[in-house]
Amino acid sequence: MAATIIDGEAVAAQLKEQVSREAAELTEAGKTPRLTAVQVGENPASKIYTNMQAKQCESVGIEYDLKNLPDDITQDQLLAEIGALNNDPAVSGVILQMPLPEQLDARSIQTAIAPGKDVEGMGTTNMGQLFYGGEGCAPCTAVAAVELLKLTCDDLAGKEVVIVGHSEIVGKPIAMLLLQSLRESPTVTVCHIATRDLAFHTKRADVLFVAAGVSQAKWRGARARAKASGEDLVVPDLSPLISGDMVKEGAIVIDVAINRIPKGVDEDGQPLKNDKGRIAIKTVGDVDFEGASEAASAITPVPGGVGPMTVVMLLKNTVTCAKALQ
Ligand code: NAD
Repeated sequence: MAATIIDGEAVAAQLKEQVSREAAELTEAGKTPRLTAVQVGENPASKIYTNMQAKQCESVGIEYDLKNLPDDITQDQLLAEIGALNNDPAVSGVILQMPLPEQLDARSIQTAIAPGKDVEGMGTTNMGQLFYGGEGCAPCTAVAAVELLKLTCDDLAGKEVVIVGHSEIVGKPIAMLLLQSLRESPTVTVCHIATRDLAFHTKRADVLFVAAGVSQAKWRGARARAKASGEDLVVPDLSPLISGDMVKEGAIVIDVAINRIPKGVDEDGQPLKNDKGRIAIKTVGDVDFEGASEAASAITPVPGGVGPMTVVMLLKNTVTCAKALQ
């Protein structure tokens, strides 16, 4: 079977137009939506995200501001900053850039964001709403992944859905989103690092979500070991967690993972370099895209699948929060 490729870029572009229209209506009514990102300390990875968030917000008419706070900020000081944003009527949504320095308790800070401004849906109120099937923002990546599934499958009742990964930000909320209906939910199995026979589960999945980031974790581990020991870097086996033969014929595969790993190795087993002498990196998911495409009926690519949809969900949540603030 040649799988249909689920084009996340195209769906995201359509959704973005809708978000743009809604943002324009709010602006016309004098209620321009505004997303405030809170960044504690310096973090090069976060800088990439915040630049991208600023660009995306601008492209749909959402105001964006970045609040840079010192990395020695205390829990109480940060809570006070969040409290001020909660009370600021011009701020529609607040996003907390991760990771936070060690002295801060991320969950309690996330939960201190007013539920109506928690655009990432990571606070306990919104998580609770998700559990009970109520209104509120749900974690953007989980919603993005489920929305892409719904494009290719409108009847999930009783189907076998397998989710690989059980994090709070992706795997668990996907399970909750799929279990909202009393009579028309699929049967959901959640696999994780302690799952004994992963292939047993994936092979019987009508729908397979994968969000583990295994190759990236292995690559990071290898680099950290080489750095700590001073020995040569040994590139580990970075083959995808889910090979083609782990996918059921006709399955729908939603690959959420983003692994940034070496493009390849030379004859000495060392990572290939680019023109600038740096390690040449590629972005892949957790699924062997070519192999899985032979069995699957539909599949998301990486990049170009869940990633672009996630960003638009953040914009959509910001506009939804701005509307509710009126
Ligand atoms: P996480 O590290 O918090 O969780 C990883 C999960 O994978 C855990 O539940 C763990 O038990 C499971 N896992 C690890 N090794 C496994 C194995 N060998 N077999 C089965 N399960 C295993 O990661 P996360 O934040 O949930 O992110 C998961 C992936 O999704 C990452 O690749 C991340 O980059 C990606 N992600 C993508 C987006 C997006 O916008 N597309 C957003 C968030 C995360």
